[in-house]
Amino acid sequence: MKSTGRWITTGAALFAFLWAGGALGNESPKNIIMMIGDGFGFEQAAAGRLLVPGGQLVLDAMDSNPGSVNTLNVFGDITDSAASATAYATGCKTENGNVSMAEDDSTILPTSMEAAQDPDQGMATGILSSVYLCDATPGVWLAHAPRRSCSSIIPQQVKACPDVFLGPGEKVSYQRGGKGRNRVDYITDLVENCNYEQVGNAAELAAAQAPNDRLLGIWGGYTLMYDIDQQNDPSYNLPSLAEMVAKAIEVLSRNPNGFFLMVEGGAIDWMAHNKDIAGTARDVVAFDDAVAVAYNFAHADGNTALIVTADHETGGLDIGNNPNVAFIESITASTDFMYGRVLRGEMSAEAALDTYAGVTDLTQAEKAAIDAYGETAISDALSARANVQWILPDGEVSVAPDEGDHSAYEVPVWAYGPGTGSLEGPIDNTDLGKLLFDLVGVSAPSCPVIGP
Ligand SMILES: [Zn+2]
Repeated sequence: MKSTGRWITTGAALFAFLWAGGALGNESPKNIIMMIGDGFGFEQAAAGRLLVPGGQLVLDAMDSNPGSVNTLNVFGDITDSAASATAYATGCKTENGNVSMAEDDSTILPTSMEAAQDPDQGMATGILSSVYLCDATPGVWLAHAPRRSCSSIIPQQVKACPDVFLGPGEKVSYQRGGKGRNRVDYITDLVENCNYEQVGNAAELAAAQAPNDRLLGIWGGYTLMYDIDQQNDPSYNLPSLAEMVAKAIEVLSRNPNGFFLMVEGGAIDWMAHNKDIAGTARDVVAFDDAVAVAYNFAHADGNTALIVTADHETGGLDIGNNPNVAFIESITASTDFMYGRVLRGEMSAEAALDTYAGVTDLTQAEKAAIDAYGETAISDALSARANVQWILPDGEVSVAPDEGDHSAYEVPVWAYGPGTGSLEGPIDNTDLGKLLFDLVGVSAPSCPVIGP
């Protein structure tokens, strides 16, 4: 509970404060919600604040004094999502690429979500993401592998059956084409093994009853459509991360033993890899909308630990002292969307920048750079007019895994609710991972000592 200053302003809030204070001796909450913005550093949060009224994210109301987290991997190197998410899931550092497995590539690191599933705890579990569900961050909680790969993660998810499992990845990983023995259909395996009600779009998700308290939705490709691009596709019908969180809490909170829900805002990282300032800021706000749903529940419930953090920062974003907010707000598509139209021959890069960002003053040098470097140079042209900088040099513009744009910057951690008081100062990502075991109600296993 870091926001005590806010709590003593009204009578009702004072009651909430005293209640929380009374719980300090017994800090194992009923429910745990762990939210990870991938690539979501302090400056990404600052980018999101530029777009919201009053410059305040819901995160700022939830915890006005976020702590900071060191994200480096077991070798003290810049982390990828697998090593950092493993630290959160297991309380142990590992090498890049490993999914809840030590750097010897064979020692399994038990996870706090597995402990929550143990019959002794009997908690319901949920995993949600805005990027494909067998990616590293959603993968580490219920799977173990020496290399991040969907082919090793998915069969373990089929066995583990998180009670609520929502996100993208259908066409790329869970139900690929192919014939005969090459046909991939993990979705049928999931439905049959885990007794899920399955939903196919936002309307079905909203209407779902989940009669067995089990809910599955796996849709689309590698990611939900980026928040900034959804307005450009009238046929888009997938749920937002906020809608997914609302339904997940509705289903999971039926469990009398409580629940452990992990939510990843994965698209922030992908937008930041692309050095896309407007797309990054918009996906931060979409993530904050999801935080709002969780925070409203935690606030009303009074017995839920809500932790919001990041696995690492991406891009070395620097908002500086004079961002052009009006320009950032006026952009209506991601650079990915713009360059996609260019690649498909639907419009020139100049026309795309005019149509989606109102840019009509490209210099000769910028035009030449766009011809040579494509999307990277489109992002550069937009960042220049937004008056923000990405400190890290341009890497390859691509989807994860690509840690070339990840930085060593510490990341923020916002926390609310019983048991979260230790998240104040600078902490290590493994401290937070060990705390999750405490919140589940078990002691964190000691980490293996791997020789040289
Ligand atoms: Zn990344």
